[in-house]
Amino acid sequence: MKANCWYDKHEVRVVDVPDPKIINPHDAIVKITSTAICGSDLHLYDGFIPTMEKGDILGHEFMGEIVEVGSAVKKLKVGDRVVVPFPISCGNCFFCQKELFSLCENSNPNARLAEKLWGHSPAGLFGYSHLLGGYAGGQAEYARVPFADVGPIKVPGELTDEQVLFLSDIFPTGYMAAENCNIQPGDTIAVWGCGPVGQFSIKSAFLLGAERVVAIDRIPERLRLAREKSGAETLNCEEVNVYDALMEMTGGRGPDACIDAVGMEAHVSGVVGAYDRVKQAMMLESDRPQVLREVMMCCRNGGTISIPGVYGGFIDKIPFGSVMNRAITIKTGQTHVQRYLRPLLDRIQKGEIDPSFVVTHRMRLEDAPRGFEMFKNKEDNCIKIVLKP
Ligand code: NAD
Ligand code: ZN
Ligand code: ZN
Repeated sequence: MKANCWYDKHEVRVVDVPDPKIINPHDAIVKITSTAICGSDLHLYDGFIPTMEKGDILGHEFMGEIVEVGSAVKKLKVGDRVVVPFPISCGNCFFCQKELFSLCENSNPNARLAEKLWGHSPAGLFGYSHLLGGYAGGQAEYARVPFADVGPIKVPGELTDEQVLFLSDIFPTGYMAAENCNIQPGDTIAVWGCGPVGQFSIKSAFLLGAERVVAIDRIPERLRLAREKSGAETLNCEEVNVYDALMEMTGGRGPDACIDAVGMEAHVSGVVGAYDRVKQAMMLESDRPQVLREVMMCCRNGGTISIPGVYGGFIDKIPFGSVMNRAITIKTGQTHVQRYLRPLLDRIQKGEIDPSFVVTHRMRLEDAPRGFEMFKNKEDNCIKIVLKP
């Protein structure tokens, strides 16, 4: 089959690889009909996530048709149309029982590696380095899905691929980011980053009852989408001082909750930006945490910081005194996608949201290398690319 594989920093190639096979009775094989490129893939592309190996198949947002099931699979049969969540979860362990699916303790065969870096290992993820299991991803014609009775959700034929594909990651991710804000009537939520995750965080904050959402980015068309499709107020962080603007908009108190939908590759200008870029390049710091610093300083006293943005390792100059003294709550995590599949599919079916609003580009799987370049550089007003194998 054809698959989009990682070869090096800024080098991915679509190559022929062996078809996946059932290797465990709980596996299923999916023939992929749609897959996408995620902001998390950019961290791999930019070389910031360790333990990638040449030839690793990328991709963790995919859906398609079941073409084979292992002997122990009960809920799925050949021909079912499914969306597959990006965390791989057993459904039975301590964490899965608590619906903390992205922390499954049975799905990362390389847990030892993760324990060295982070103290404990989270779940394995599709297409996301050997540190997180070394699983082949879904930017391919076929994928092997472990624990097939736990992850995939069947989707009805009347919804298009683009309406349901993002149940695999970015819709639940934005939703969990908003849910983690514990939104109360009258709340103002600020969202840093208007990429796909930011867009779904904004929509979800409104779905969960926020009165105002302020969206922050530096890319005009992403800010425009946040205004026009979701009704957010927007700030261009290259034109205004974000802290000053937010204080002005909230009577000097600060937003009730702040969402960091940017993560480890924040764009920063000036001295602080140079400091982070140099330290990250010299491996003295693994992440550029400028947005994290900003959300900490902007959030109101006693407010909540929700962090869907991905961080990899160790960060510098974090104003923790601000967090402690002002009683800030921090919530974060890779999304427990399985928990949100059914309720969010219901919202799509009821017409409360049509997730396809983020799609700006459709390409063939063969064009994935061009797609990565385009998405990274935000060329041609690119916000979300769907690949068709
Ligand atoms: P993206 O790269 O399309 O979006 C990031 C946005 O942040 C861009 O629009 C960029 O212009 C903006 N940005 C950069 N610096 C900024 C700054 N200083 N202030 C404000 N905005 C700034 O990526 P995405 O697909 O939207 O993903 C966003 C983050 O969410 C990534 O870190 C990704 O890894 C993470 N993510 C996490 C999960 C999870 O399970 N927690 C799932 C999916 C994605
Ligand atoms: Zn993702
Ligand atoms: Zn588990």
